[in-house]
Amino acid sequence: DAPTYQGFAKLMGWADSHRRLRVRANADTPRDARMARNFGAEGIGLCRTEHMFFEGDRITAMREMIVARDEGGRRRALEKLLPMQRADFEGIFQAMDGYPVTIRLLDPPLHEFLPHGGEESSLLAASLHLSRQELSRIVSSLRETNPMLGHRGCRLGIVYPEITEMQARAIFEAAVRAYRRGIDVHPEIMVPLISDVTEFRHQRAIIERAADQVMGVMGERVPYLIGTMIELPRAALTADEIAAEADFFSFGTNDLTQTTFGLSRDDAGRFLPQYVERGIYPDDPFQVLDTKGVGKLVRWAVRDGREAKPGLKVGICGEHGGEPRSVAFCHSVGLDYVSCSPYRVPVARLAAAHASLAD
Ligand code: PEP
Ligand code: MG
Repeated sequence: DAPTYQGFAKLMGWADSHRRLRVRANADTPRDARMARNFGAEGIGLCRTEHMFFEGDRITAMREMIVARDEGGRRRALEKLLPMQRADFEGIFQAMDGYPVTIRLLDPPLHEFLPHGGEESSLLAASLHLSRQELSRIVSSLRETNPMLGHRGCRLGIVYPEITEMQARAIFEAAVRAYRRGIDVHPEIMVPLISDVTEFRHQRAIIERAADQVMGVMGERVPYLIGTMIELPRAALTADEIAAEADFFSFGTNDLTQTTFGLSRDDAGRFLPQYVERGIYPDDPFQVLDTKGVGKLVRWAVRDGREAKPGLKVGICGEHGGEPRSVAFCHSVGLDYVSCSPYRVPVARLAAAHASLAD
């Protein structure tokens, strides 16, 4: 009701006047982006593009791309995906008019996009002019024992540069179209799962080439940033080299927790409650940022990154970005922003204000 809302708005206004950390949201659709803005988000800190392909015709085109036998087949599937991506991004830029939007390049564990057999596989085989046996041979060759440590993140864009090229084209075409409609666009393109600066350099060159091509043809330039996730210990430990070439960092603390602890984020829930109950871990590290180990990597990466590039923009987009104690830690190590699910934005705004006041 109105008085409750007014009370809430007043409280959040106080919080906002005290906090130093900016608060963004993780959102993949215009609807979520609008909701995030209503909750007070000051940008999108993570748009997971793989989430755009889980349904309808889209998953079919994505599967065609993943199982294509050669670059030609992949390019044909990517041509189908390009207009969908462009429309998605244009909608998100419009919803976030005036605010930064961080779009992450495709980061699927491949198994999530493989067909599950039955009618799905028959349709896919037919659209690719393959026999069911040929398709199942290709699918078996793509299956991984450890998909979360496998062919995902930037590794996909390095082996198949045409994927990065299509996504970058879609982002820049959408940004110029939105700009022409009077929308204030601030795209930030983010490369996932970097472990070495050479991976970032490779992807950055493709993105820059796409930017020059698109903006050259469309006759309009929009400003943009190209940065990376820091979500592997090796990336955190080589942050100085990466910062020299990246415009921003965003800590992916879901994967950084997984890889620092050597704990599967998908399976650890089976025994972590007992660990916490028995005092082995003080908290579930996927819920509350482990300030000792994972936090040390974050602290070092911020320090080394900013030594290499003073003023480097740094945020966090793992689940911890909306958890109050973790937000306090992010404040203490000097991050510029946290990014969390839209529903957690008000809590993050309050936690950021508490952290400033505690200073
Ligand atoms: C992360 O790893 O923290 C992250 C934000 O990426 P995702 O959860 O999509 O792997
Ligand atoms: Mg991740």
